[in-house]
Amino acid sequence: MKSKSDIGVIGLAVMGENLILNMASKGFTVTAYNRSTDKVEKFVTGRAEGKTIRGAYSVEELVESLAAPRKIMIMVKAGAPVDATIESLIPHLDEGDIIIDGGNTHYPDTIRREAYLKEKGIHFVGAGVSGGEEGALTGPSIMPGGSLEAWQHVKPIFQGISAKVEGGEPCCDYVGENGAGHFVKMVHNGIEYGDMQLLCEAYQIMKEVVGLSADEIHQVFKQWNTTELDSYLVEISRDIMAFKDEDGEPLVEKILDTAGQKGTGKWTGVVALDLGVPLTLIAESVFARCISALKEERVEASKILAGPEKSFTGDKAAFIEDLRQAVLASKIVSYAQGYTLMREAAKEFNWNLNYGGIALMWRGGCIIRSAFLGDIKKAFEKNPELNNLLLDDYFKETVVNAQSSWRNVAATAIANGVPAPCLTAALNYFDGYRTARLPANLLQAQRDYFGAHTYERTDKPRGEFFHTNWTGRG
Ligand code: NAP
Repeated sequence: MKSKSDIGVIGLAVMGENLILNMASKGFTVTAYNRSTDKVEKFVTGRAEGKTIRGAYSVEELVESLAAPRKIMIMVKAGAPVDATIESLIPHLDEGDIIIDGGNTHYPDTIRREAYLKEKGIHFVGAGVSGGEEGALTGPSIMPGGSLEAWQHVKPIFQGISAKVEGGEPCCDYVGENGAGHFVKMVHNGIEYGDMQLLCEAYQIMKEVVGLSADEIHQVFKQWNTTELDSYLVEISRDIMAFKDEDGEPLVEKILDTAGQKGTGKWTGVVALDLGVPLTLIAESVFARCISALKEERVEASKILAGPEKSFTGDKAAFIEDLRQAVLASKIVSYAQGYTLMREAAKEFNWNLNYGGIALMWRGGCIIRSAFLGDIKKAFEKNPELNNLLLDDYFKETVVNAQSSWRNVAATAIANGVPAPCLTAALNYFDGYRTARLPANLLQAQRDYFGAHTYERTDKPRGEFFHTNWTGRG
């Protein structure tokens, strides 16, 4: 083992331990430290035994063991524990040393910590890590933001341990300044909410409207996974549909229909509202979880509020293909919205975001990994200034071709009273975005009527504002 470690990791819960084992398996020497030092002992005499991993039993020992500039990755519970860990390190570090936060931190905290540590001459990298415990061990997607100078030092380690896609390209690259890495990880989680909800809506339509069994839905997802929808989430949904409980019945049908959330989808929706970005699909996916949580209320309401009789008379196979097209088109809208959010955030926070690189980082290792992200990378390579993914030739053609299928599915779901909030929100966004004249003229008139908010006119230059006395009263 080298006399000094390449990196130190603080936090020996599942993520920290697995990242350390991943680093050691790629030839790096790592010092492991944890606030409760009994976990250090347990780790070095257990999973880490015989590997290029040394334990430290104090912050001093950890810092002392590291090669300069020191690189210390924090993998503790997000929030106050990260601040406490940073404070415990500061007295022992030198200028030019690097602290990395690899937890699920909200990006404003990363912006604040980066500025605070910069004043002290310490580099700070906020790195989003996706892929769960398994990914941490075998190759996660890593989205690092912060000091560009520090990135040069952590790059070999992070790109060494990250997932790789075709051609061995790492699913890890510099994202942008200060909080950009954690922002992009947050958008990733929001997109994950949307992708999951789209598959849930497809499942419910297949089950409730078409009348397919779990085994039949398993077959549909299996087929979808050989198409443009090829992705981790379709793959696991396929397997879930086939999974049988002890009595031979599909387990999925016995799971209570109330979904939990940890807040990253909500953060994505909130920042979209703050920045004025129409992120409708992700917002609907968060609300879908909220409505699912109202189980008792829904059960009561189901007895009071009658809906239409469900009926399906068409060609099942043709409708399932329409559904696939509808999911694909909606998914494209979701990514278009997510990328628009990142573009607006880049303007707001002065980030130089690497859009094609972000698609590559999501291409493997993480929950939203899919073949489709390769096409997004190509779109941004072709035109790094692309305003909206829907305007790229490939995506434009795919969505326009899917359009009649998408409308058929939305209309069928609505006619049968089956909720499809994300599929329909995506279609509404598509229709809003492609409409040259929206009814906001009436809205402006209403605002001017009751609040004298003024309006612009189509027959006058932009920037000239008018007010009308709508009632004729003084
Ligand atoms: P965790 O359960 O979130 O956190 C446990 C770790 O935090 C322990 O090492 C604990 O030390 C430490 N800790 C808690 N309070 C502390 C404090 N006040 N001061 C110092 N240390 C403190 O661990 P995890 O699941 O491995 O996740 C680590 C980070 O990665 C989190 O931000 C999490 O959100 C993120 N993440 C998790 C996953 C996942 O799949 N689990 C995936 C991606 C990202 P003690 O042992 O001393 O209590």
